[in-house]
This record gives sequence, structure tokens and C-alpha cells, in this order.
Amino acid sequence: MPNSAAMSRNGLVTEIRTRIRSDPLSSSYDLVGKELGRGKFAVVKKCIEKTTGKQYAAKFLRKRRKGADCRSDILNEIAVLELAAANPHVVALHEVFETSLEIILVLECAAGGEIFNQCVADHDEAFTEKDVMRLVKQILSGVAFLHQNNVVHLDLKPQNVLLTSARPLGDIRIVDFGLSRHMDNITEVREILGTPEYVAPEILNYEPISTATDMWSIGVLTYVMLTGESPFLGDEKQETFLNISQVNVDYSPETFEGISSPAIDFIKTLLVKNPRKRATAEECLNNVWLNSHPHSHPLLLPRSPSNLDEPETSQSESEPESPVPS
Ligand code: ADP
Ligand code: MG
Repeated sequence: MPNSAAMSRNGLVTEIRTRIRSDPLSSSYDLVGKELGRGKFAVVKKCIEKTTGKQYAAKFLRKRRKGADCRSDILNEIAVLELAAANPHVVALHEVFETSLEIILVLECAAGGEIFNQCVADHDEAFTEKDVMRLVKQILSGVAFLHQNNVVHLDLKPQNVLLTSARPLGDIRIVDFGLSRHMDNITEVREILGTPEYVAPEILNYEPISTATDMWSIGVLTYVMLTGESPFLGDEKQETFLNISQVNVDYSPETFEGISSPAIDFIKTLLVKNPRKRATAEECLNNVWLNSHPHSHPLLLPRSPSNLDEPETSQSESEPESPVPS
């Protein structure tokens, strides 16, 4: 565990355990294929470890950005990955290299890519409600682990939530801890701003951030995964911000056609303006929707609480039930 001396006042954790290699990446890895993705400051490329033949994702982070030294931000990202190594739904960090200009994180490769692709896909390739239930549980498992350790992600969006495989649909790997902060020591959050569509009202109002800030983003993520639509996106940035601060959300039957009402109720526990009234990750893991049996028929409501303790009998339902896979 990093001690408080290793934590600066802005919530960055900069003490890391991983040994930083200064020999070239190419001495141990071959870069292959095209880019896996890119964000604001990073490029991610597929690579193969020479000794094992195993595939990894190399994230190249520039140490200077807009003239400022960002090495401590990168060390913070590494420290959070180390802390979350015990959770299977957070991407695993394998090795770290440093050159004069860059730090390179060698990460577990999430070969299925961003959930973003399936969120905007045509109907036959889009997630079913049953898929979303399983994937949201995994996202919550990763985020609950971070929150138990007083870490907030602050940039949860479909581009930072990846899949181990796309077809067949694999498991969740949360990536991109570039904006993550340790909650104990945050004094100033004004410069931290995630992607407009996914940020919580308190960020727009410069109010204190908390673990609830991530929960808002999980509400937006779930909405997008189920409907393919971004709930607050407006034509202009200002319109998006206004929609967020007014919590102007479309829950109409047209938008949620074929989606169960417990799913809508789940989203409504998260898209709540007051962060203290938003559901926590632990509460979400106990939510009735996520703990109902994921029937292929999306409109089947979960059994009433009085039935939940009864032993399952094969003739009670039209199809066999299976526990929700983790
Ligand atoms: P940034 O901080 O610049 O947004 P990210 O960590 O989000 O960087 O990486 C950028 C993109 O690269 C991601 O949105 C994703 O598409 C891809 N990517 C990142 N990590 C991995 C990984 N471990 N496996 C596969 N693709 C990845
Ligand atoms: Mg990113």
C-alpha cells in the first residue's frame, strides 16, 4: 500500500512497485499489426513478447504534454493499475519501459476492443439486455474494487471499457486510469474534466467529486449499452451540459423498446443529480435487475422477492434457469 507521503495533495499516487525498464521495448517485444486505439495523449499498439509469443497492448505515453512535465500523472496511472491488479475486470499491467520521451505500459491485450463499437452497432450485432446485465455486473465489480480502495476512475465511457473478445462476447476489462485519483487527498478538481457526454453534474458545477461521480458515468454507460443512444448528447457542448445539469433524460417506451422496466429503474438509481442520493457500486451489485435471471425474453420481469428463496423447480419456468455468470 502506498503511504500518505507518496501521495501528493492533488490525489495522485506516484509511488510504484513495478521496475521501470530502460532498455528498448524492441529488445523483448515485436510490434505487430496496426494501432489498437488512441486517445488524447496515448497511442496503443499490439505487440508480441519474444520469449513467450504472447500478445500484449503497448500504450505509449508522452512525458511532456503541452509543454508540461506529466511523468507524475503517468506514475499515478501505473500505481492505480498495480493497486487494481487483484481485480480481473481491470486490465492487467505486465511491464513498464521508459525512453527519453515516453513511458510505455505493456498491458494485457483486450482483443475484443471498445464496447463503444457494439453500442453503436446495428441491431443484430448490438448487445442484448442479457449481455448488458452480465457486462454491467463486471464493470461494477471492477469499479467497486477501486472504490473500496478509495480510488475514483473519473473517465468511465465506452472507449475506456474493453472486451477480451467481441464474438463470442467475452469479458470486461476497464482501461485508462489517466484521470484516476485517490480520494483521501483531493483538494482541487477544477482541471479534471472527463468527456462531456459522460461527466456528472457535480463536475460541471465544480463541486467535490467522489465515488458517486463514477456511478453517474455507469448510469450513462448502461443507458448507451441498452439503447445505443447517448442520453445527454446535444448538438452543441453547451446543450449537452444543460441536459446534464437538468438531468434531461428520455425514458420513453420508444427509446426503451423491448427493454425491461427493472433495467430502466436501474439507470434511474444512477442518473440522479444529488451525488449522495445516487446508488453506490455495492448497492448496484445487489440491484434487483442485475440479480434477476437473464432470460432471453427481455420483457420477463424478475420474480417477486417472496419467490426468491424458494428452491428452483424445472417446471416453474418455460425455460431452464442458469445463474448469472460472473
Ligand atoms: P488515453 O488515455 O489516451 O485515452 P487509453 O488507455 O484509453 O488512452 O487507450 C486508447 C485506446 O486504445 C482505447 O480507447 C482502446 O481503444 C485502446 N486500448 C487501450 N488499452 C488497450 C488494451 N489493453 N487492449 C486493447 N486495446 C487497448
Ligand atoms: Mg481513453
